[in-house]
Amino acid sequence: MQQFIDKYDFKGKKAIVRVDFNVPLNENFEITDDTRIRRAMPTLKKVLAEGGSVIIMSHLGRPKKVDPKFSLKHIVGRVSECLGVPVQFAEDCQKAKAQADALKPGEALLLENLRFYAEEEGKPRGLAEDASEEEKKAAKAAVKASQKEFVKTLASYADCYINDAFGTAHRAHGSTALIAEYFPNDKMFGYLMEGEIKAIDNVLKNAKRPLTAIIGGSKVSSKLAVLKNLVGKVDNLIIGGGMGYTFIKAQGGKIGLSLHEDELIPDALEILATAKEKGVNVSLSVQTVAGQAFDNDTPRKIFDTNNIGDEWEGMDAAPATLENWKKIIMNSKTILWNGPVGVFELPNFAKGTLQIAEDLAEATKNGAYTLVGGGDSVAAVTQMGYADKVSYVSTGGGAMLEAIEGKILPGIAAIQE
Ligand code: AMP
Repeated sequence: MQQFIDKYDFKGKKAIVRVDFNVPLNENFEITDDTRIRRAMPTLKKVLAEGGSVIIMSHLGRPKKVDPKFSLKHIVGRVSECLGVPVQFAEDCQKAKAQADALKPGEALLLENLRFYAEEEGKPRGLAEDASEEEKKAAKAAVKASQKEFVKTLASYADCYINDAFGTAHRAHGSTALIAEYFPNDKMFGYLMEGEIKAIDNVLKNAKRPLTAIIGGSKVSSKLAVLKNLVGKVDNLIIGGGMGYTFIKAQGGKIGLSLHEDELIPDALEILATAKEKGVNVSLSVQTVAGQAFDNDTPRKIFDTNNIGDEWEGMDAAPATLENWKKIIMNSKTILWNGPVGVFELPNFAKGTLQIAEDLAEATKNGAYTLVGGGDSVAAVTQMGYADKVSYVSTGGGAMLEAIEGKILPGIAAIQE
């Protein structure tokens, strides 16, 4: 079993590397944000520098068939620039054997979009809407069978496999998980994956205490599994943002027109009861900035969170709440933040989220470990200029969310087992 690339000797070896080059392109097929390409460079450069060659594979968008709009040829130039060598291109990821065989040490080949093939995801395509259950089953079995050949072909190009695509680590796809079985002693995480895995472990496995989770965002329903997993692990659970109002209402508070989910009140009460039983300190908002419409210029008014006016909607955390939360944050040694504590997209309701970003930066400076991951809080810290002032900002929204739900990610398991 091989896990981390620092322990591997790449001299004369061909490495097939799954990266996440799913970058945004404009209508002229120009890359508008190349962060994902740049984040994969340390891994790719290491293999080349040690005298290996790389076969790079990725998906781009969600094509349902071969579609030039989603071709990775649009990004070859930028990948070459970043890598510092001219990158060759294979126009069909399943017909690249000759090009892979011809690669010399220090050379790189980029395969065409893996998702041009249904086999990458292992899900049937083109099924009629009125297909019967039996037809669906048969189509699924067929694509699963041909998936084996698809993966075997990819594996035949290389001597070793590196997964550096955290963004798709929660998917059991051909290139993210299944391919690993062809490299029982030559499979490993790239640097980006390694960083993400260590960040998750720093919070969920080896946290220095007190450990605090700040969970915000819009809905309890999308974070239920996160809350249920964390309530058994953390010392403090700060629940903010739109989802906080369901908890306030569950305890008999008046929340005016604030976002809430009545059907989740029993779950909210269960989470609060579990927290009490386990001695976890739950901190809800005590004071709210409310608006009269979901609009930046709507009139604003501060209310006690359990007594919001009938015509008002809670849209941000107010100073008394933020003071409470700051105390908790400053007393913590490990902090996980997922989800904004207000409607941060509207500048007049972004103050709470900005304050949390500042508090996390200060806590980090004082020696706490701070991880921002899994959703809009990543966009918030990046946009607000705090990304390099916290310990780690995750690159994988869905993957990080599933990790903090306590799930085992197939892309990680495939390397570890
Ligand atoms: P999520 O994707 O679940 O992390 O939710 C992020 C979204 O929650 C952002 O778009 C925020 O605008 C939204 N949000 C945060 N606080 C509130 C609130 N009080 N009312 C409505 N939406 C909110």
